[in-house]
Amino acid sequence: MKIIITGAGVSGLAAAADLVARGHEVEVYERAPELRAGGNGVLIWHNATGILRDLGLPLERLGRRMDTADVWSSRGEPLMRTDLTRIAAVLGTPCIAAMRGDVLRLLADAVPEGVIRLGKECAEIVERPGGVTVRFTDGTTADGDVLIGADGYRSAVRTHLFGADDARYTGLASWHGTTTEPLDLGGDHCVPTFYGRQGLCTLHPVGDGRIHWSFEVPFDNGRRRVPPPGTALSEASRSEGRRLASSREWFGGWAPPVSDLLDVLKEEDIAEAPHTLHDVRKWWGRGPITLVGDAAHAIPPRAGWGVNQALEDSWVLGHALDGPGSPADRLRAYEQARRGRARTVRGRAKMLRHSNRLLLALRLTRDGLQSTKMLQANIQSSSSYLNRDLPPGTARPAAEAV
Ligand SMILES: Cc1cc2nc3c(=O)[nH]c(=O)nc-3n(C[C@H](O)[C@H](O)[C@H](O)COP(=O)(O)OP(=O)(O)OC[C@H]3O[C@@H](n4cnc5c(N)ncnc54)[C@H](O)[C@@H]3O)c2cc1C
Repeated sequence: MKIIITGAGVSGLAAAADLVARGHEVEVYERAPELRAGGNGVLIWHNATGILRDLGLPLERLGRRMDTADVWSSRGEPLMRTDLTRIAAVLGTPCIAAMRGDVLRLLADAVPEGVIRLGKECAEIVERPGGVTVRFTDGTTADGDVLIGADGYRSAVRTHLFGADDARYTGLASWHGTTTEPLDLGGDHCVPTFYGRQGLCTLHPVGDGRIHWSFEVPFDNGRRRVPPPGTALSEASRSEGRRLASSREWFGGWAPPVSDLLDVLKEEDIAEAPHTLHDVRKWWGRGPITLVGDAAHAIPPRAGWGVNQALEDSWVLGHALDGPGSPADRLRAYEQARRGRARTVRGRAKMLRHSNRLLLALRLTRDGLQSTKMLQANIQSSSSYLNRDLPPGTARPAAEAV
C-alpha cells in the first residue's frame, strides 16, 4: 500500500518506521525545512517504551529511567510516592524521561533514507476514487492509497476533514526549559512534582546531566489571566518578556529544588507552551484518510501523555492496516480500536487540571497512603496497553510485554 504521511513529529515518524517495516511504501512530508527536534523533556511511560522496543529501537540510548514519581507540597512536605519499578516489573518495560528531540531523532534513524521529505507543507487534499492526492504549498503533489494526518494540533488534514480547527486552549500554559545546573531532585531516577495554590512545578532528569523543568501558569488565548487573590502577578511582570520575574514572584518561597531553580534561571531559558484540548470525535477520518497523535486528540501535557498517545496511535494503526478489508475499512477499524482509550486519557488529562486542590487536601486529611495506592493503580492502568487493544483480526506484536 502507498501511504502518505503529513508531519514528521513523533506520531508521523513512529507510523513511518512501523509501516515501512511492515512492507508498505511510505512518504513523509514535513512542513519545516529540517526535522523539528526542539522541545523539552517528555515522559515516556511503560506502554510507550514497550512500543519503542517493539519497533526495535535501542531504549538504552534514550534519556533516563525513572523509578519513582514523587508529589510534594510547595513547602517541601512529601504527599505521595509512586513506585514505577513495580509497574515496570508488571508490564516488562521501564518509564523513561527524555528530551523530545532525542525521541524524534531515534525514530528518524529507524526510517530509511529518502522517506522523509522536508520543506513540504500540505496545503490542499483531493479525495479521488481509490486514493488521495496531497498538494503542497510549493505546487508539487503526492498521490497515495492512504493519507495519515500527523501534522499536530492545528492539523491541515483535520481541517480538511472536519472544517475549522476545534482545539481549545485550556486556560493553562507551561513555562518550561532545560538546565544543566546541578539540582537535588532526591535521586537520579526520580520525577518530583511540587504542588501549591499557585500551580505546579515538575522536574526530571533527561540524561547527560540535563534536567527538564516546567511551571504551570494561567493562560487564556494568548493573555495570562488575572490570578487568584493572594497570588497576583504585578502588571509589569505579566507583560511579555518578563516570564522570569513572574516565575519568581509567583513561585518564590517554594521549597528546594524549585527555589534553587529560580535562582539560576535566565529570561531566555523560559519557553511558553499553551495547553490545548480536542474533543475526541467518533471517527477520526473519512475514506482513505485518518489522523494520528495531536492532530486526532491534543491533550494538555500535565501527565505527559502526548508522546505516549502518539506512539499508541501509530502502533495500532500499523496493526490495523495489516488487517482485513479495504484501506478505508482498516482505517475505521483503527479509529474504533483507539477511540475509547483516547477518550479515557482525555478525561483523565482534563480532570488532572483540578488535582492541585485535591492533592493539597490529601495532606490535610492524612489519607496519603490510600491515595498513593490509588495513584499507583491509576498510573499502572494508564501505562498498560495490551494486545486486546488492537483491532480484531490483526497480527500480534513481536514483543509480548507492551
Ligand atoms: C517543536 C515542538 C516542540 C514540542 N515540545 C514539546 C515539549 O517540550 N513537551 C511536550 O510535552 N510536548 C511537546 N511537543 C508536542 C509533542 O511533540 C506532541 O504532543 C506529541 O509528541 C504528539 O506529536 P505529533 O507528532 O502528533 O505532533 P507534533 O509533535 O506537533 O508534530 C507535528 C508535525 O507536523 C508538522 N506539520 C504541521 N503542519 C503541517 C503541514 N500542513 N504539512 C506538513 N507538516 C506539517 C509540524 O511541523 C510538526 O513537525 C512539541 C511539538 C513540537 C512540534
